[in-house]
Amino acid sequence: MRYQRTLKKAITFKGIGLHTGRKTKVTLRPAPRDTGIVFVRTDRDTVIKATIKSVVDTAFATTIGYNGTRIKTVEHLLSAFGGLGIDNVIVEVEGPEIPILDGSSTELVEIILNAGISQLSPPKSYIKITRPIYIEDGHSTIMALPYNGRKITYTIHFKHTLFSSQTLTIELTEESFIKEIAPARTFGFLKNVETLRANGLALGGSLDNAIVIDDNGILNESGLRFENEFVRHKILDLIGDMSLIGYPIEGHIIAEKAGHSSHIKFLKTLINSKESWQIVAPHQERIYSYAYVF
Ligand SMILES: [Zn+2]
Repeated sequence: MRYQRTLKKAITFKGIGLHTGRKTKVTLRPAPRDTGIVFVRTDRDTVIKATIKSVVDTAFATTIGYNGTRIKTVEHLLSAFGGLGIDNVIVEVEGPEIPILDGSSTELVEIILNAGISQLSPPKSYIKITRPIYIEDGHSTIMALPYNGRKITYTIHFKHTLFSSQTLTIELTEESFIKEIAPARTFGFLKNVETLRANGLALGGSLDNAIVIDDNGILNESGLRFENEFVRHKILDLIGDMSLIGYPIEGHIIAEKAGHSSHIKFLKTLINSKESWQIVAPHQERIYSYAYVF
């Protein structure tokens, strides 16, 4: 059991968006108990709650929106909140996208730790997987199994002579997130860059904020941070997308060849699989029914 958490004080950071290339300022502010993660597009006066229902696009990033106003690439910031167990924050954003920074969540973790973490009085409720849940989505599969803890197994396959497949299983704790997952950067293939840019994506992408792969290897002179940095980043993305459900998930999540779109489909299936999970609310020693929560 752990208590709900927020930040000790407000903190601001700036940077460019990976896809829009736009420079944006973000301020993270402490929020009271049971607020959840709430984004505010301050230039549009629009509030967008970080929930599955707010997801409006999953192509190459997770985009949330409300009434036509959008915020792109929220997943790395959400992953930092999910990985550190930050439950209540107001995220003020002055533009259309969360800055990509170095392409990982490491700087975001540092920003949050610099602001400090403050404990709020009620214990945090969580979702406990009680029966297996499984989806197939094109070539992707994702399942959740009952497990006493938070475990993720992710497998990716590349058609590349140097990088073929990578699998990693991790017990998710704040320590393992900070050391093993947060530093893993986003990545892309050089051959896709032109098409992405023609579609208005990856406009802010560079070797400073992404690993770029061509037929001969990676273009970044500094090399990789981990031999299997790619699969670690996929786990980072999954943790970010899972945080949209609003509760930590106790169980073993196993994903293969997945991405933002299948992550969100899986989470929607999970919400609707009422017989496969319970909400455990430690402070009231109660297990809420589905109808109460969603
Ligand atoms: Zn990512």
